[in-house]
Amino acid sequence: MPDKDEPFEAACAICGATNKLLLHRDALTNWQLVCEDCYQKLKPHVDDVGINFIKQFEGFSPTIYKDIHGIRTIGYGHVIEFNEHITPPITEQQATELLKKDLLKFEDAALNLLKVKLNQNQFDAFVSLIYNIGPENVKGTRLLELLNSHKFDLAMQHWKLFDRAGGKEVEGLKRRRLAEIELFNTPVKKG
Ligand SMILES: [Zn+2]
Repeated sequence: MPDKDEPFEAACAICGATNKLLLHRDALTNWQLVCEDCYQKLKPHVDDVGINFIKQFEGFSPTIYKDIHGIRTIGYGHVIEFNEHITPPITEQQATELLKKDLLKFEDAALNLLKVKLNQNQFDAFVSLIYNIGPENVKGTRLLELLNSHKFDLAMQHWKLFDRAGGKEVEGLKRRRLAEIELFNTPVKKG
């Protein structure tokens, strides 16, 4: 019998841990209190196909360069934070670690934007898009609206339009968008 004086303590629904708790949404209506470790295991992640896809399009740079917006970048498109200390040159392995750490944040951003469940390839393609153009540039768009209404064919027509920088069409962005659409439309292998 529970002691009445014992204060209610929130705990992870999976492992019972009582620290680093957050809410996890596994469907539209199912919210669960879980710890950060269990959350990382529960939520969808970009898989190796997606990681290699993003690597291929970002390209590897062991040294710091400025991207098309003049932002200091290294590795596979890792944006160097104001107070972050990275000593170049970095190895491909270090760059992969940075990318994987970044992707955890972009996966969360994707899950915040999406109201429909995507399959693995669709999810990878979507994270590639927001890793490239920023989640804030997808928020409130017709593309997102169509994805969330499950109108995927029509959504792809809008996906294509995100191929511009500074008002101009960019060949590299155009190729990446088409490859993302192809990935999005690739059925997931079973098993
Ligand atoms: Zn847990």
